[in-house]
Amino acid sequence: MLYSKQTFLVAGLSRSGIAASEFLLSHGARVYCFDDVEEGSVAATAASLKERGCTILHKEDLGQRSGECDILVLSPGIPVDHPLPVAFRHAGKRIIGEAELGALALRCPVVAVTGTNGKTTTVTMIDGILKSAGMKSIACGNVGRPISSCVNELGEEGVAVAEISSFQLETLCSLRPHVAIVLNVTEDHLNRHYNMENYVYLKSRLLKNSYESEYAVLNHDDPIVRGFAEKTKAKVIWFSVREPVEGGYLSDGCFCYMGEKLFPVGDLPLEGEHNAANALAAICAAKLMGVQSEVIAAALRTFRGVAHRLQRIGELNGVTFIDDSKATNVDSAIKAVGSVRGESVLLVGGKDKGYSYEPLFDAVKNSGVVHCVIYGENAFRILNAALKKGFTAVTLCRPFDVAVRVAYMTAKPGQNLLLSPASASFDAFRNYEERGDRFRELLAVLTEERAREGSAPPVPAEGGDDGIAE
Ligand code: ADP
Repeated sequence: MLYSKQTFLVAGLSRSGIAASEFLLSHGARVYCFDDVEEGSVAATAASLKERGCTILHKEDLGQRSGECDILVLSPGIPVDHPLPVAFRHAGKRIIGEAELGALALRCPVVAVTGTNGKTTTVTMIDGILKSAGMKSIACGNVGRPISSCVNELGEEGVAVAEISSFQLETLCSLRPHVAIVLNVTEDHLNRHYNMENYVYLKSRLLKNSYESEYAVLNHDDPIVRGFAEKTKAKVIWFSVREPVEGGYLSDGCFCYMGEKLFPVGDLPLEGEHNAANALAAICAAKLMGVQSEVIAAALRTFRGVAHRLQRIGELNGVTFIDDSKATNVDSAIKAVGSVRGESVLLVGGKDKGYSYEPLFDAVKNSGVVHCVIYGENAFRILNAALKKGFTAVTLCRPFDVAVRVAYMTAKPGQNLLLSPASASFDAFRNYEERGDRFRELLAVLTEERAREGSAPPVPAEGGDDGIAE
Protein backbone atom coordinates (compact mmCIF):
# COMPACT_ATOMS: atom_id res chain seq x y z
CA MET A 1 0.00 0.00 0.00
CA LEU A 2 1.29 3.48 -0.83
CA TYR A 3 0.78 4.96 2.59
CA SER A 4 2.24 8.36 1.76
CA LYS A 5 -0.39 8.97 -0.93
CA GLN A 6 -3.34 8.39 1.37
CA THR A 7 -5.14 10.09 4.21
CA PHE A 8 -6.32 7.66 6.87
CA LEU A 9 -8.96 8.23 9.51
CA VAL A 10 -8.23 6.11 12.58
CA ALA A 11 -11.49 5.74 14.53
CA GLY A 12 -11.24 4.57 18.14
CA LEU A 13 -8.15 5.49 20.12
CA SER A 14 -7.56 2.45 22.25
CA ARG A 15 -4.71 -0.07 21.97
CA SER A 16 -5.19 -0.93 18.29
CA GLY A 17 -6.02 2.66 17.24
CA ILE A 18 -2.80 3.94 18.81
CA ALA A 19 -0.78 1.18 17.12
CA ALA A 20 -2.45 1.89 13.75
CA SER A 21 -1.76 5.63 14.03
CA GLU A 22 1.89 5.03 14.94
CA PHE A 23 2.31 2.51 12.12
CA LEU A 24 0.79 4.89 9.57
CA LEU A 25 2.82 7.89 10.77
CA SER A 26 6.01 5.84 10.51
CA HIS A 27 5.08 5.02 6.89
CA GLY A 28 4.58 8.64 5.93
CA ALA A 29 0.78 8.64 5.78
CA ARG A 30 -1.45 11.57 6.70
CA VAL A 31 -3.34 10.46 9.79
CA TYR A 32 -6.58 11.83 11.21
CA CYS A 33 -7.82 10.42 14.50
CA PHE A 34 -11.23 10.33 16.14
CA ASP A 35 -12.78 8.91 19.27
CA ASP A 36 -16.22 9.82 20.54
CA VAL A 37 -14.83 9.84 24.08
CA GLU A 38 -12.90 13.07 24.47
CA GLU A 39 -11.92 12.94 28.14
CA GLY A 40 -9.55 11.12 30.46
CA SER A 41 -6.95 8.76 29.05
CA VAL A 42 -8.39 9.10 25.52
CA ALA A 43 -7.83 12.87 25.62
CA ALA A 44 -4.23 12.27 26.72
CA THR A 45 -3.74 9.77 23.87
CA ALA A 46 -5.21 12.25 21.37
CA ALA A 47 -2.91 15.01 22.63
CA SER A 48 0.14 12.79 22.30
CA LEU A 49 -0.85 11.67 18.78
CA LYS A 50 -1.41 15.30 17.81
CA GLU A 51 2.10 16.14 18.96
CA ARG A 52 3.41 13.39 16.70
CA GLY A 53 1.65 14.80 13.65
CA CYS A 54 -1.91 13.41 13.68
CA THR A 55 -4.91 15.65 13.05
CA ILE A 56 -7.50 15.13 15.77
CA LEU A 57 -11.14 15.35 14.68
CA HIS A 58 -13.88 16.18 17.16
CA LYS A 59 -17.54 15.18 17.11
CA GLU A 60 -18.63 18.55 15.72
CA ASP A 61 -16.26 18.50 12.71
CA LEU A 62 -16.32 14.74 12.01
CA GLY A 63 -19.16 14.88 9.48
CA GLN A 64 -17.47 17.53 7.38
CA ARG A 65 -13.79 16.61 7.68
CA SER A 66 -14.02 12.82 7.46
CA GLY A 67 -14.66 13.47 3.76
CA GLU A 68 -10.98 14.48 3.47
CA CYS A 69 -9.96 10.91 4.31
CA ASP A 70 -9.46 8.06 1.82
CA ILE A 71 -9.40 5.04 4.13
CA LEU A 72 -11.08 4.37 7.46
CA VAL A 73 -9.15 2.33 10.03
CA LEU A 74 -11.91 1.13 12.29
CA SER A 75 -11.37 -0.05 15.86
CA PRO A 76 -12.66 -3.60 16.46
CA GLY A 77 -14.80 -2.03 19.19
CA ILE A 78 -16.86 -0.08 16.62
CA PRO A 79 -19.37 -2.16 14.64
CA VAL A 80 -19.33 -1.93 10.85
CA ASP A 81 -22.93 -0.65 10.87
CA HIS A 82 -22.01 2.43 12.91
CA PRO A 83 -22.83 5.65 10.97
CA LEU A 84 -19.14 6.46 10.38
CA PRO A 85 -18.23 3.27 8.44
CA VAL A 86 -21.63 3.37 6.77
CA ALA A 87 -20.82 6.86 5.44
CA PHE A 88 -17.43 5.64 4.16
CA ARG A 89 -19.05 2.66 2.48
CA HIS A 90 -21.63 4.89 0.80
CA ALA A 91 -18.82 7.11 -0.46
CA GLY A 92 -17.16 4.00 -1.99
CA LYS A 93 -14.18 4.24 0.35
CA ARG A 94 -12.17 1.47 1.92
CA ILE A 95 -12.69 0.31 5.53
CA ILE A 96 -9.98 -1.73 7.22
CA GLY A 97 -8.86 -2.57 10.76
CA GLU A 98 -5.51 -2.37 12.51
CA ALA A 99 -5.13 -6.15 12.01
CA GLU A 100 -5.49 -5.62 8.26
CA LEU A 101 -2.71 -3.01 8.31
CA GLY A 102 -0.57 -5.58 10.08
CA ALA A 103 -1.56 -8.39 7.71
CA LEU A 104 -0.64 -6.26 4.68
CA ALA A 105 2.79 -5.50 6.10
CA LEU A 106 3.84 -8.82 7.73
CA ARG A 107 6.64 -10.69 5.98
CA CYS A 108 6.84 -13.74 8.28
CA PRO A 109 4.68 -16.85 8.66
CA VAL A 110 1.49 -16.44 10.64
CA VAL A 111 -0.23 -18.92 12.92
CA ALA A 112 -3.72 -17.49 13.40
CA VAL A 113 -6.25 -18.67 15.97
CA THR A 114 -9.96 -17.94 16.02
CA GLY A 115 -13.00 -19.51 17.67
CA THR A 116 -15.54 -18.48 20.26
CA ASN A 117 -13.51 -19.69 23.25
CA GLY A 118 -9.94 -20.72 23.98
CA LYS A 119 -8.15 -18.33 21.62
CA THR A 120 -5.93 -16.65 24.22
CA THR A 121 -5.14 -19.93 25.96
CA THR A 122 -4.20 -21.61 22.68
CA VAL A 123 -2.21 -18.64 21.37
CA THR A 124 -0.28 -18.51 24.65
CA MET A 125 0.42 -22.25 24.43
CA ILE A 126 1.65 -22.00 20.82
CA ASP A 127 3.76 -18.92 21.51
CA GLY A 128 5.35 -20.69 24.50
CA ILE A 129 6.10 -23.83 22.47
CA LEU A 130 7.63 -21.88 19.56
CA LYS A 131 9.77 -19.83 21.94
CA SER A 132 10.96 -23.04 23.63
CA ALA A 133 11.94 -24.27 20.18
CA GLY A 134 14.10 -21.16 19.77
CA MET A 135 11.83 -19.39 17.32
CA LYS A 136 11.25 -15.64 17.37
CA SER A 137 7.55 -15.75 18.02
CA ILE A 138 5.24 -12.96 19.16
CA ALA A 139 1.72 -13.41 20.52
CA CYS A 140 -0.27 -10.65 18.87
CA GLY A 141 -3.66 -9.50 17.59
CA ASN A 142 -6.51 -9.63 20.03
CA VAL A 143 -4.06 -10.59 22.78
CA GLY A 144 -0.56 -9.35 23.45
CA ARG A 145 0.58 -6.70 21.00
CA PRO A 146 -1.31 -5.23 18.04
CA ILE A 147 -0.13 -6.98 14.86
CA SER A 148 1.06 -3.80 13.13
CA SER A 149 3.39 -3.01 16.04
CA CYS A 150 5.24 -6.34 15.60
CA VAL A 151 5.98 -6.13 11.89
CA ASN A 152 9.56 -4.80 12.12
CA GLU A 153 10.57 -6.97 15.03
CA LEU A 154 9.27 -10.13 13.36
CA GLY A 155 10.99 -9.41 10.05
CA GLU A 156 11.07 -12.49 7.81
CA GLU A 157 12.38 -14.96 10.40
CA GLY A 158 9.83 -14.52 13.17
CA VAL A 159 6.42 -16.15 13.60
CA ALA A 160 3.33 -14.10 14.36
CA VAL A 161 0.98 -16.10 16.58
CA ALA A 162 -2.15 -14.04 16.10
CA GLU A 163 -5.40 -14.22 18.03
CA ILE A 164 -8.17 -13.09 15.70
CA SER A 165 -11.62 -12.20 17.02
CA SER A 166 -14.88 -11.99 15.08
CA PHE A 167 -14.78 -8.21 15.56
CA GLN A 168 -11.41 -8.11 13.79
CA LEU A 169 -12.64 -10.45 11.05
CA GLU A 170 -15.25 -7.84 10.07
CA THR A 171 -12.48 -5.66 8.60
CA LEU A 172 -9.74 -8.20 7.85
CA CYS A 173 -9.29 -9.23 4.20
CA SER A 174 -5.63 -9.95 3.47
CA LEU A 175 -4.44 -12.31 6.19
CA ARG A 176 -3.20 -15.61 4.74
CA PRO A 177 -2.01 -17.70 7.70
CA HIS A 178 0.42 -20.57 7.20
CA VAL A 179 -1.61 -22.32 9.91
CA ALA A 180 -5.19 -21.17 10.58
CA ILE A 181 -6.89 -22.68 13.63
CA VAL A 182 -10.61 -22.64 14.33
CA LEU A 183 -11.27 -23.90 17.85
CA ASN A 184 -15.07 -23.85 18.13
CA VAL A 185 -18.09 -21.76 17.22
CA THR A 186 -20.87 -21.35 19.76
CA GLU A 187 -23.31 -18.50 20.44
CA ASP A 188 -21.60 -15.24 21.30
CA HIS A 189 -21.71 -11.55 20.39
CA LEU A 190 -25.15 -11.90 18.80
CA ASN A 191 -25.87 -8.36 20.01
CA ARG A 192 -23.19 -7.23 17.54
CA HIS A 193 -23.39 -9.77 14.70
CA TYR A 194 -27.22 -10.08 14.78
CA ASN A 195 -27.50 -13.81 14.10
CA MET A 196 -25.59 -17.04 14.18
CA GLU A 197 -25.28 -17.26 10.37
CA ASN A 198 -23.40 -13.99 10.23
CA TYR A 199 -21.20 -14.95 13.19
CA VAL A 200 -20.35 -18.34 11.63
CA TYR A 201 -19.62 -16.65 8.30
CA LEU A 202 -17.22 -14.21 9.99
CA LYS A 203 -15.34 -17.04 11.70
CA SER A 204 -15.00 -18.90 8.38
CA ARG A 205 -13.33 -15.83 6.84
CA LEU A 206 -10.05 -16.72 8.54
CA LEU A 207 -9.70 -19.56 6.02
CA LYS A 208 -10.82 -17.78 2.88
CA ASN A 209 -7.38 -16.74 1.55
CA SER A 210 -5.62 -20.06 2.16
CA TYR A 211 -4.05 -22.07 -0.66
CA GLU A 212 -3.28 -25.79 -0.81
CA SER A 213 0.16 -25.12 0.65
CA GLU A 214 -1.34 -23.80 3.88
CA TYR A 215 -2.99 -25.61 6.78
CA ALA A 216 -6.38 -25.36 8.44
CA VAL A 217 -6.41 -26.91 11.92
CA LEU A 218 -10.05 -27.64 12.66
CA ASN A 219 -11.99 -29.04 15.61
CA HIS A 220 -13.54 -32.31 14.44
CA ASP A 221 -15.82 -32.40 17.51
CA ASP A 222 -17.56 -29.13 16.63
CA PRO A 223 -20.16 -29.60 13.85
CA ILE A 224 -19.93 -25.99 12.67
CA VAL A 225 -16.13 -26.03 12.50
CA ARG A 226 -16.18 -29.46 10.80
CA GLY A 227 -18.23 -27.85 8.03
CA PHE A 228 -15.45 -25.30 7.41
CA ALA A 229 -13.34 -28.06 5.80
CA GLU A 230 -15.47 -27.72 2.69
CA LYS A 231 -14.92 -23.99 2.48
CA THR A 232 -11.13 -23.92 2.39
CA LYS A 233 -8.42 -24.86 -0.09
CA ALA A 234 -5.97 -25.39 2.79
CA LYS A 235 -4.90 -28.87 3.82
CA VAL A 236 -7.12 -29.82 6.76
CA ILE A 237 -5.54 -31.15 9.96
CA TRP A 238 -8.12 -32.22 12.53
CA PHE A 239 -8.08 -32.32 16.28
CA SER A 240 -10.50 -34.21 18.51
CA VAL A 241 -10.86 -35.17 22.16
CA ARG A 242 -13.38 -37.84 21.18
CA GLU A 243 -11.85 -40.01 18.46
CA PRO A 244 -8.64 -40.65 16.51
CA VAL A 245 -8.40 -38.27 13.53
CA GLU A 246 -5.81 -37.23 10.93
CA GLY A 247 -4.04 -34.83 13.25
CA GLY A 248 -4.17 -34.41 17.04
CA TYR A 249 -6.24 -36.69 19.30
CA LEU A 250 -6.29 -38.51 22.64
CA SER A 251 -5.50 -42.20 22.93
CA ASP A 252 -4.65 -44.39 25.96
CA GLY A 253 -4.73 -41.25 28.12
CA CYS A 254 -2.06 -39.54 25.98
CA PHE A 255 -1.90 -36.61 23.58
CA CYS A 256 -1.17 -38.07 20.13
CA TYR A 257 -0.35 -36.60 16.75
CA MET A 258 -0.61 -38.64 13.53
CA GLY A 259 0.04 -41.97 15.27
CA GLU A 260 2.72 -40.70 17.64
CA LYS A 261 2.20 -40.57 21.42
CA LEU A 262 3.45 -37.31 22.94
CA PHE A 263 2.72 -37.25 26.69
CA PRO A 264 0.00 -38.19 29.23
CA VAL A 265 -3.08 -35.94 29.31
CA GLY A 266 -2.75 -35.78 33.11
CA ASP A 267 0.57 -33.94 32.72
CA LEU A 268 -1.16 -30.88 31.28
CA PRO A 269 -1.50 -28.59 34.30
CA LEU A 270 -4.94 -27.27 33.24
CA GLU A 271 -8.34 -28.65 34.18
CA GLY A 272 -11.05 -29.61 31.72
CA GLU A 273 -11.52 -31.41 28.44
CA HIS A 274 -11.74 -28.05 26.67
CA ASN A 275 -8.15 -27.34 27.67
CA ALA A 276 -7.11 -30.73 26.31
CA ALA A 277 -8.74 -29.61 23.04
CA ASN A 278 -6.79 -26.34 23.14
CA ALA A 279 -3.57 -28.29 23.75
CA LEU A 280 -4.33 -30.57 20.80
CA ALA A 281 -4.79 -27.53 18.54
CA ALA A 282 -1.50 -26.13 19.83
CA ILE A 283 0.24 -29.47 19.23
CA CYS A 284 -1.03 -29.55 15.63
CA ALA A 285 0.20 -25.99 15.01
CA ALA A 286 3.59 -26.64 16.59
CA LYS A 287 4.06 -29.85 14.59
CA LEU A 288 3.16 -28.01 11.38
CA MET A 289 5.76 -25.38 12.28
CA GLY A 290 8.35 -28.16 12.58
CA VAL A 291 8.76 -28.33 16.37
CA GLN A 292 10.08 -31.56 17.92
CA SER A 293 7.66 -33.61 20.03
CA GLU A 294 9.87 -33.45 23.15
CA VAL A 295 9.96 -29.65 23.00
CA ILE A 296 6.16 -29.50 22.64
CA ALA A 297 5.67 -31.90 25.57
CA ALA A 298 8.08 -30.00 27.82
CA ALA A 299 6.44 -26.64 27.05
CA LEU A 300 2.89 -27.89 27.64
CA ARG A 301 3.82 -29.75 30.83
CA THR A 302 4.97 -26.45 32.32
CA PHE A 303 2.18 -24.30 30.88
CA ARG A 304 0.85 -22.15 33.70
CA GLY A 305 -2.46 -21.06 32.20
CA VAL A 306 -3.66 -17.52 31.68
CA ALA A 307 -5.06 -15.22 34.38
CA HIS A 308 -8.87 -15.05 34.79
CA ARG A 309 -9.36 -18.43 33.05
CA LEU A 310 -10.33 -21.06 35.65
CA GLN A 311 -7.58 -19.64 37.86
CA ARG A 312 -7.46 -20.80 41.49
CA ILE A 313 -6.69 -17.57 43.28
CA GLY A 314 -6.85 -18.62 46.93
CA GLU A 315 -8.66 -20.30 49.75
CA LEU A 316 -10.56 -18.92 52.73
CA ASN A 317 -12.10 -21.03 55.47
CA GLY A 318 -11.81 -24.10 53.25
CA VAL A 319 -13.57 -22.40 50.31
CA THR A 320 -11.49 -22.32 47.11
CA PHE A 321 -11.93 -19.14 45.05
CA ILE A 322 -11.75 -19.75 41.28
CA ASP A 323 -11.55 -16.76 38.93
CA ASP A 324 -13.02 -17.56 35.51
CA SER A 325 -14.01 -13.94 34.81
CA LYS A 326 -13.11 -14.44 31.13
CA ALA A 327 -16.08 -16.81 30.80
CA THR A 328 -18.07 -14.10 29.06
CA ASN A 329 -20.45 -16.42 27.22
CA VAL A 330 -22.59 -19.46 27.99
CA ASP A 331 -20.34 -22.12 26.45
CA SER A 332 -17.27 -21.08 28.44
CA ALA A 333 -19.30 -21.16 31.68
CA ILE A 334 -20.66 -24.59 30.71
CA LYS A 335 -17.07 -25.79 30.29
CA ALA A 336 -16.18 -24.33 33.70
CA VAL A 337 -18.99 -26.05 35.63
CA GLY A 338 -18.15 -29.30 33.82
CA SER A 339 -14.42 -29.07 34.60
CA VAL A 340 -14.13 -27.93 38.19
CA ARG A 341 -13.88 -30.89 40.53
CA GLY A 342 -16.05 -31.10 43.67
CA GLU A 343 -19.00 -28.95 44.73
CA SER A 344 -19.24 -25.28 43.81
CA VAL A 345 -21.25 -22.17 44.42
CA LEU A 346 -21.46 -20.45 41.02
CA LEU A 347 -21.41 -16.67 40.59
CA VAL A 348 -23.07 -15.77 37.32
CA GLY A 349 -24.25 -12.54 35.67
CA GLY A 350 -23.25 -9.25 34.09
CA LYS A 351 -24.09 -7.62 30.78
CA ASP A 352 -26.38 -9.47 28.43
CA LYS A 353 -25.20 -10.40 24.92
CA GLY A 354 -28.48 -11.62 23.49
CA TYR A 355 -28.43 -15.39 23.92
CA SER A 356 -30.27 -17.96 26.01
CA TYR A 357 -28.91 -19.01 29.41
CA GLU A 358 -30.98 -22.19 29.49
CA PRO A 359 -28.16 -24.49 28.22
CA LEU A 360 -26.08 -23.29 31.18
CA PHE A 361 -28.64 -24.61 33.64
CA ASP A 362 -28.85 -27.96 31.81
CA ALA A 363 -25.11 -28.20 32.51
CA VAL A 364 -25.42 -26.84 36.06
CA LYS A 365 -27.98 -29.52 36.93
CA ASN A 366 -25.51 -32.23 35.88
CA SER A 367 -22.54 -30.69 37.64
CA GLY A 368 -21.14 -30.15 41.11
CA VAL A 369 -22.82 -26.72 41.35
CA VAL A 370 -24.92 -26.71 44.51
CA HIS A 371 -26.05 -23.09 44.41
CA CYS A 372 -26.01 -20.12 42.02
CA VAL A 373 -25.67 -16.52 43.10
CA ILE A 374 -27.00 -14.44 40.21
CA TYR A 375 -25.97 -10.80 39.94
CA GLY A 376 -25.67 -7.95 37.42
CA GLU A 377 -27.79 -6.26 34.79
CA ASN A 378 -29.04 -9.52 33.25
CA ALA A 379 -29.88 -11.12 36.63
CA PHE A 380 -33.59 -11.54 35.87
CA ARG A 381 -32.98 -13.13 32.47
CA ILE A 382 -30.61 -15.62 34.09
CA LEU A 383 -33.02 -16.23 36.95
CA ASN A 384 -35.80 -16.97 34.46
CA ALA A 385 -33.59 -19.49 32.66
CA ALA A 386 -32.66 -21.19 35.96
CA LEU A 387 -36.28 -21.49 37.07
CA LYS A 388 -37.44 -22.62 33.64
CA LYS A 389 -34.90 -25.43 33.85
CA GLY A 390 -36.04 -26.29 37.38
CA PHE A 391 -32.84 -25.17 39.10
CA THR A 392 -34.09 -23.37 42.20
CA ALA A 393 -30.98 -23.23 44.41
CA VAL A 394 -30.49 -19.59 43.50
CA THR A 395 -29.97 -16.27 45.21
CA LEU A 396 -30.55 -13.06 43.30
CA CYS A 397 -28.24 -10.31 44.39
CA ARG A 398 -27.55 -7.52 41.97
CA PRO A 399 -24.36 -5.67 43.02
CA PHE A 400 -21.20 -7.69 42.36
CA ASP A 401 -19.52 -7.00 45.72
CA VAL A 402 -22.57 -8.12 47.67
CA ALA A 403 -23.00 -11.16 45.43
CA VAL A 404 -19.43 -12.30 46.12
CA ARG A 405 -19.98 -11.87 49.85
CA VAL A 406 -23.27 -13.79 49.74
CA ALA A 407 -21.70 -16.54 47.63
CA TYR A 408 -18.87 -16.87 50.13
CA MET A 409 -21.35 -17.09 53.01
CA THR A 410 -23.30 -19.73 51.10
CA ALA A 411 -20.28 -21.93 50.29
CA LYS A 412 -19.32 -24.55 52.83
CA PRO A 413 -15.74 -25.54 53.64
CA GLY A 414 -14.51 -27.93 50.95
CA GLN A 415 -16.58 -26.27 48.23
CA ASN A 416 -15.45 -23.89 45.47
CA LEU A 417 -16.60 -20.36 44.85
CA LEU A 418 -16.58 -20.24 41.08
CA LEU A 419 -16.85 -16.89 39.29
CA SER A 420 -17.81 -17.93 35.76
CA PRO A 421 -20.25 -15.19 34.71
CA ALA A 422 -21.47 -16.34 31.24
CA SER A 423 -21.84 -12.61 30.54
CA ALA A 424 -19.79 -9.58 29.60
CA SER A 425 -18.56 -7.36 32.42
CA PHE A 426 -19.48 -3.96 30.97
CA ASP A 427 -22.53 -3.42 33.19
CA ALA A 428 -20.25 -2.67 36.14
CA PHE A 429 -16.61 -2.92 35.02
CA ARG A 430 -14.31 -1.66 32.29
CA ASN A 431 -13.53 -5.24 31.27
CA TYR A 432 -13.35 -8.83 32.49
CA GLU A 433 -9.87 -8.23 33.94
CA GLU A 434 -11.20 -5.53 36.23
CA ARG A 435 -14.04 -7.88 37.30
CA GLY A 436 -11.54 -10.67 38.05
CA ASP A 437 -9.27 -8.27 39.91
CA ARG A 438 -12.22 -7.09 42.00
CA PHE A 439 -12.99 -10.72 42.85
CA ARG A 440 -9.41 -11.14 44.06
CA GLU A 441 -9.64 -7.89 46.07
CA LEU A 442 -12.84 -9.10 47.72
CA LEU A 443 -11.10 -12.34 48.66
CA ALA A 444 -8.41 -10.20 50.34
CA VAL A 445 -11.07 -8.11 52.13
CA LEU A 446 -12.89 -11.22 53.37
CA THR A 447 -9.59 -12.73 54.46
CA GLU A 448 -8.75 -9.63 56.44
CA GLU A 449 -12.19 -9.53 58.04
CA ARG A 450 -11.86 -13.15 59.06
CA ALA A 451 -8.43 -12.52 60.52
CA ARG A 452 -9.85 -9.62 62.54
CA GLU A 453 -12.69 -11.77 63.81
CA GLY A 454 -10.10 -14.26 65.05
CA SER A 455 -11.02 -17.84 64.46
CA ALA A 456 -14.77 -17.21 64.63
CA PRO A 457 -16.46 -19.27 61.92
CA PRO A 458 -18.24 -17.42 59.09
CA VAL A 459 -22.00 -17.00 59.28
CA PRO A 460 -23.41 -20.35 58.13
CA ALA A 461 -25.77 -20.52 55.17
CA GLU A 462 -29.33 -20.33 56.47
CA GLY A 463 -32.03 -22.86 55.73
CA GLY A 464 -32.28 -24.63 52.38
CA ASP A 465 -30.59 -23.67 49.18
CA ASP A 466 -33.60 -22.58 47.23
CA GLY A 467 -34.53 -19.17 48.60
CA ILE A 468 -34.70 -16.24 46.24
CA ALA A 469 -33.64 -13.07 47.97
CA GLU A 470 -32.48 -9.64 47.09
P1 ADP B 1 -10.84 -16.41 24.20
O1 ADP B 1 -9.55 -15.71 23.97
O2 ADP B 1 -11.36 -17.08 22.98
O3 ADP B 1 -11.87 -15.59 24.90
P2 ADP B 1 -9.72 -17.74 26.52
O4 ADP B 1 -8.59 -18.68 26.38
O5 ADP B 1 -9.43 -16.37 26.97
O6 ADP B 1 -10.51 -17.67 25.15
O7 ADP B 1 -10.81 -18.37 27.47
C1 ADP B 1 -12.06 -17.70 27.66
C2 ADP B 1 -13.00 -18.53 28.49
O8 ADP B 1 -13.33 -19.71 27.80
C3 ADP B 1 -12.43 -18.98 29.83
O9 ADP B 1 -13.50 -19.00 30.73
C4 ADP B 1 -11.91 -20.37 29.55
O10 ADP B 1 -11.92 -21.19 30.71
C5 ADP B 1 -12.92 -20.87 28.51
N1 ADP B 1 -12.33 -21.75 27.49
C6 ADP B 1 -11.02 -21.90 27.17
N2 ADP B 1 -10.88 -22.77 26.16
C7 ADP B 1 -12.12 -23.17 25.81
C8 ADP B 1 -12.65 -24.05 24.82
N3 ADP B 1 -11.85 -24.69 23.97
N4 ADP B 1 -14.00 -24.22 24.76
C9 ADP B 1 -14.82 -23.57 25.62
N5 ADP B 1 -14.39 -22.73 26.58
C10 ADP B 1 -13.05 -22.52 26.68
